[in-house]
Amino acid sequence: MSNPDTSGGILTIDLGALVDNWRLLKSRLNGADCAAAIKADAYGLGAERAVIALAQAGCHDFFIAQLDEGILLRRILNGAGLNGEIHVLGIPLDGAEGRQSLIEHRLTPVLNALADIDIWKTHHRDAPADIHIDTGMLRLGLPPSEVETLKDDPRRSQGLNISYVISHLACAEDRQTAMNGEQLASFTETLTLFPACKASLANSAGIFLGPQYHFDLGRPGAALYGVNPTPGMANPMAQVVRLQGKILQIRDVDTPQSVGYGATHRIIQKGRIATVGVGYADGYLRSLSGRGYGFLGEHRVPLVGRVSMDLITFDVSDVPEQVAHPGALIDLIGVNNPVDDVAEAASSIGYEILTSLGARYHRAYI
Ligand SMILES: *Cc1c(COP(=O)(O)O)cnc(C)c1O
Repeated sequence: MSNPDTSGGILTIDLGALVDNWRLLKSRLNGADCAAAIKADAYGLGAERAVIALAQAGCHDFFIAQLDEGILLRRILNGAGLNGEIHVLGIPLDGAEGRQSLIEHRLTPVLNALADIDIWKTHHRDAPADIHIDTGMLRLGLPPSEVETLKDDPRRSQGLNISYVISHLACAEDRQTAMNGEQLASFTETLTLFPACKASLANSAGIFLGPQYHFDLGRPGAALYGVNPTPGMANPMAQVVRLQGKILQIRDVDTPQSVGYGATHRIIQKGRIATVGVGYADGYLRSLSGRGYGFLGEHRVPLVGRVSMDLITFDVSDVPEQVAHPGALIDLIGVNNPVDDVAEAASSIGYEILTSLGARYHRAYI
């Protein structure tokens, strides 16, 4: 966390907007609970502040990807005197040490295979666990063949203390695709094997597919942090992230010259170039070279030339000198260029933009 006066960029995270987003998602869930996916340091925003704000607002279930994230999260919650169930999405269960950590830190593993179920039943049958059914991602979860095995021998999964039976949607952002309905049907059918268990299917976009996708728990991540869960329609979420890059130097150009590595951009007319102290080492993706843009107040300024490791350059020729000056801040992510727009310019997705946000920014939480 660097000094705001000397850092090349200022990242402001609006915890009020985060909590508003969680409340909105919860209200869309028609009575089902609303968890929070906070893996990868709350999608790059900072798990500690995010989790405390969410838990204080009433969020009880947190999903993370790895054991170490879970241990850290338990410490955060304990330190703030807060409780919550922490679900670990991807954890190998064959090592006794890893399993012992789960028990010690009261973490709920997601069982992704029959082998996981067997291990957990043998060693920790009373400790809570989730069961993940793969309905079309081909990443983690019981594959269809193992679901068939369970159908033939339902006792295999009996006697466990199951928190949730979960599955994950592959194309929830696409309201038109038949795959959502197919995954829903497959999941619903498999749930007949777990008649007394609570279930969870929807990520952020899944929540907006309708009540049949809600079951007992929604698991939003991206939408909490302001990414639009309904692409192609207005974003119902509040903006959580603002990223401002600081102008370090302004260069007046009056003879034809090129800007940056590779000399990919040439200035042919008289103009002004602003150099900002943010680069790809800060997660400002190199694919934004020649395509990104920022805002100086209401002035839209195009990024010119290549993104370098620590610096980017904007054409500020059309901006008054009292606005574009050394020390002034350019919105790299802001009200006029929200995270989804930046992602589009980078040929990426909001998820990648957020989880790439670098460690050198001065971070301010409001
Ligand atoms: C990351 C993740 C989520 C959250 O997804 P978003 O699209 O960010 O809402 C939910 N469930 C699982 C299994 C995940 O891995």
